[in-house]
Amino acid sequence: MSHRHQGLPDAADTRPRAEVERDVWRAGVAAGLGDSRDLPLDSHLHTVRSPDANAMLDAYCALAVERRIPELAITDHVDFDPTMPAYGYASFADRERDVREAAARWADRGLAIRFGVEITYERAFEADIRGWLARHPHDYVIGSVHISEDSPYKASNVARFVAGRSLGEIVAPYFDEVIGAARSGLFDTIGHLDFVKRYLVPHVLPADLAGAPELYEPVLAALVEAGTALEVNASGLRQLPRETYPSAPIVARYRELGGRHVTIGSDAHRTEWFAYGLAQAYGQAASAGFESLAFRRGAERVAVLNPVYGIRPT
Ligand SMILES: [Zn+2]
Ligand SMILES: [Zn+2]
Repeated sequence: MSHRHQGLPDAADTRPRAEVERDVWRAGVAAGLGDSRDLPLDSHLHTVRSPDANAMLDAYCALAVERRIPELAITDHVDFDPTMPAYGYASFADRERDVREAAARWADRGLAIRFGVEITYERAFEADIRGWLARHPHDYVIGSVHISEDSPYKASNVARFVAGRSLGEIVAPYFDEVIGAARSGLFDTIGHLDFVKRYLVPHVLPADLAGAPELYEPVLAALVEAGTALEVNASGLRQLPRETYPSAPIVARYRELGGRHVTIGSDAHRTEWFAYGLAQAYGQAASAGFESLAFRRGAERVAVLNPVYGIRPT
């Protein structure tokens, strides 16, 4: 079937997204993507405290010990738009208690667990997010742009939206919000920088975006100017794009433009997705010249050495 073709997205594959992505994940597991180990940190993980996740925190912890991944950031979703699924879903107190108690339970196994959050950024809610974050401190904060009910990228809207529009016009609504998130200064890192490419398949393929790297320049410049980190998010490797968010050439371009802070996360929502593609993401960061990763443990930004740097060939 089409999805087996060199692991590239196929515009003719019109099965439901979940079905295609299950096959992408399985093919990746067969190719070894599920076997990341001996890496210092996975800084993007969801538990049952996220509406779209079903993983128990302790299950991630057991896998982390087994795979010698000694530090995790739990980053469940918090939304400010009342139409979004994580709006009012889990309280700050419940999320923090889960993570702090797990941290205490697992400390003697050599595992450090940080209390993070992934906030959905929308310009319209920036003031609300700012006020809330000031009152609710976290160890580590990811800001991400997600696809809302009325988004042009929703499955029911996207074909009509892309028709007759240029590639630049197609990605503009998403990238404009990402630029807002970067400039807000609210976030340690921007999650899955070009997540929109998942929703554009099959109308626009990752190869189309790869052919127009200039579309990323204003986004990368905003990150560099604001000092906000770029996340290399491995979840795209098990989703329709079959490549990280963003892809390796964009990570390298960020470095060329003066970007010095990358973070890395698997963005697992299920136990079996834990650390999936993490080694590939570390390798991309190393190839782009990142000797260390950016992270935060509640106070100042810290550097976590990238063990793959200088080892893995480009
Ligand atoms: Zn996200
Ligand atoms: Zn996430």
